[in-house]
Amino acid sequence: MNVELVIDAKATLGEGAIWDARRKRLYWVDIPEGEVHVYDPADETDQAIAIGQPVGTVVPRRSGGLMLAVEHGFAALDLETHKLAILNDPEDNLPDNRFNDGKCDPAGRFWAGTMNADRRPEGSLYCMDTDHSVRRMFGGTTCSNGIVWSLDQSSMYYIDTPTRQVDAFDYDVESGEIANRRVTITVPEEMGKPDGMTIDAEGMLWIAMWEGSRVTRWDPCDGSLLQTIRIPALRVTSCAFGGENLDELYITTARTRMTATQLAEQPHAGGVFRVHPGVRGVEAFEFVG
Ligand code: ZN
Repeated sequence: MNVELVIDAKATLGEGAIWDARRKRLYWVDIPEGEVHVYDPADETDQAIAIGQPVGTVVPRRSGGLMLAVEHGFAALDLETHKLAILNDPEDNLPDNRFNDGKCDPAGRFWAGTMNADRRPEGSLYCMDTDHSVRRMFGGTTCSNGIVWSLDQSSMYYIDTPTRQVDAFDYDVESGEIANRRVTITVPEEMGKPDGMTIDAEGMLWIAMWEGSRVTRWDPCDGSLLQTIRIPALRVTSCAFGGENLDELYITTARTRMTATQLAEQPHAGGVFRVHPGVRGVEAFEFVG
């Protein structure tokens, strides 16, 4: 597998890769640096937009611009003026929590989770509806990460990283309600910890492995590992299908907390990589509100 370095970004904590099929751009974030990145593969430019606070994830917004889960709340970013507007902060009573990963569901709601700075299990998963109201879906999370919906829209898959598991829920696209939480994948210790996640056109899950130097493909029906792609960076954080035919997998990585020896061995840690994994993805959902 040819793993191509597409952005030698040296990001502290690159995350949140998502392809905007309408604008043919890749969005990603550098969480602690408070940067939203817009990568255009046509001219190979990567624009960093500083938003002045940590940013956990990014999704396209149908009415224009981007939606973000920033340190404290759900926010809208205007791509022309770079103006940030906080729309809803469901944890204004919890200053030690910040938002982390999230994505939109098939109905265009924006789901994102929070995490506690001291890694106490005091985070929650929230869902912002298209009218900008926010529901707390469940609590007790430590490091809320990958989230994706099955192609038939009947299931939601979710990762709280330290559990080393992917949990499945029954999902109701009309109401956004979830039920019947159960474990569907358990990641063996030597593979690293599950972080960001996406789904391909065959309904299989692609998971970036924090401290695992790889992305992995899994069958959510029986929990089996189908494919492993090695990435030349220890901390692999998120992945997203992109390109004209959705047949390229973009992969973000981190540089944070690496030793000098590790950095010498992995000089492109913190970069964005791309592979052609031999399977297509599906278009990511936009925020509809
Ligand atoms: Zn993550």
